[in-house]
Amino acid sequence: MNVHNQMEEYVSDRVRDIYRQLKEKESPWLTCSCESCILDSISYVLNRVAPHYVVSGRGAVYSSQVLNNSQLRADVDALAVEAIRIINSVQRPYHKLSSNLIAMSSQNEQQPFFNFPVLNGSVYDGSTFEPVIDAEITLKSKNGVVIMQDFSWPNPCRTYKSTKGSFSFWPESIPASKENEIRKFTFTAEAKASGYQTVSHAFEIVLSGEPKKRIYINNSLTMKIPDFIMFNS
Ligand SMILES: [Zn+2]
Repeated sequence: MNVHNQMEEYVSDRVRDIYRQLKEKESPWLTCSCESCILDSISYVLNRVAPHYVVSGRGAVYSSQVLNNSQLRADVDALAVEAIRIINSVQRPYHKLSSNLIAMSSQNEQQPFFNFPVLNGSVYDGSTFEPVIDAEITLKSKNGVVIMQDFSWPNPCRTYKSTKGSFSFWPESIPASKENEIRKFTFTAEAKASGYQTVSHAFEIVLSGEPKKRIYINNSLTMKIPDFIMFNS
């Protein structure tokens, strides 16, 4: 008897599909999509979702139990995007920059920009200090909901069990009038979760205009925003 984890095919299909979508949209932070990066992303997701074992049959595809579980499908997609982001932000000297990225950077006009850091935070329950799962966090500025770098950074975003209540945003760069121009940006982040009182807080980021738009993630350019502590409503 052969026992087989059906999640392997499902996760592999989803990760490959998301890589394909990111490539089609020319997501600038996708610096590499070689087979080894894809396999790293697949293992990242497989290590975080429960296995689903079946006795293998010829030509077996994943069962309707996987396909009918919309929560599981949503978690796999969210984890896949997270995995691809993390793997693309790790320095891999043996990987050549993709021709895509080189093309993008030469196109990138020499115009000064305000480049935002990746904003990270977490949501906790105020009485248990456990992470709050499935909270919805919205990042706003005076102009409304803040636009992100691309579709893989949703706004509002959610917290997942697998990521222990953490969330992140990467706001889109904004043109500056000149290099070294200093500007203060005020944001409001709001967290909502079922059964909890909505919490929001404001914070400021002061940025200096940089010579060009930043198109890749740099791990040193992250900023922790205040944690959300939520209480039952
Ligand atoms: Zn690679």
